[in-house]
Amino acid sequence: MAVSAEALRELHRIHRQRADLLDRLRQGPRQTERCQINVKRAQTSLGDAKAELQKGRLGADDKQLQLRDREAKIDVLKSKLNACTSNREFQTLKEQIAADGQANCVLEDEIFEALERNDELQLGVQSGKSGVEAAESEKTEVGARFAKQDEELNAELTRVEAELTEAEQGLPAEIREEYDRVAAARGADALAAVEDQVCGGCFQQLTIQTQNELLLGALLFCKRCGCLMYLTE
Ligand SMILES: [Zn+2]
Repeated sequence: MAVSAEALRELHRIHRQRADLLDRLRQGPRQTERCQINVKRAQTSLGDAKAELQKGRLGADDKQLQLRDREAKIDVLKSKLNACTSNREFQTLKEQIAADGQANCVLEDEIFEALERNDELQLGVQSGKSGVEAAESEKTEVGARFAKQDEELNAELTRVEAELTEAEQGLPAEIREEYDRVAAARGADALAAVEDQVCGGCFQQLTIQTQNELLLGALLFCKRCGCLMYLTE
């Protein structure tokens, strides 16, 4: 059991460095996913704006068609005026033409409003398109940035893992199995520094005996949390 506390401290440091690299490597996929969600959201928003504009255009078209129908109807009524055989009939027709003309005025106002609204909806579609473009360009930019960063991190990870393997080779065979099991399950949390007789893994006070054994250089796993313990400097 010729492993010094210093060697364990170093092992822990390498473990933490590896954990940090793995954590940073997880950022890329997370950011990419966030960008993807933003693109989808922008596309949905654009789709909604387009549908709204389409609906607005159909509504305006409908009203314009209605207006033309009524104007045609007024023309027909006007053409009948000359054929009237009684004053009463003439008056009735005149009134109907006036009423239809009035209705058409209302309709013309409605058409004007609908066209104005469609202009606004068109602006909404434009802004929706800009939104999609912005989200897509962010996705591309983030993707490129993380691809470059991940390449560097992976190279660093390869180096640190080699360092870890080397440091682990210094562990005595009798604790290797338990260490491997704890390390596989917990990574950097497989080791814990002991400070003021407290285990850094579970923050429990160690017994005097455990503390003394550690001082004598024994390799001990905490009875409570299972961490491989080492003394701080
Ligand atoms: Zn503990």
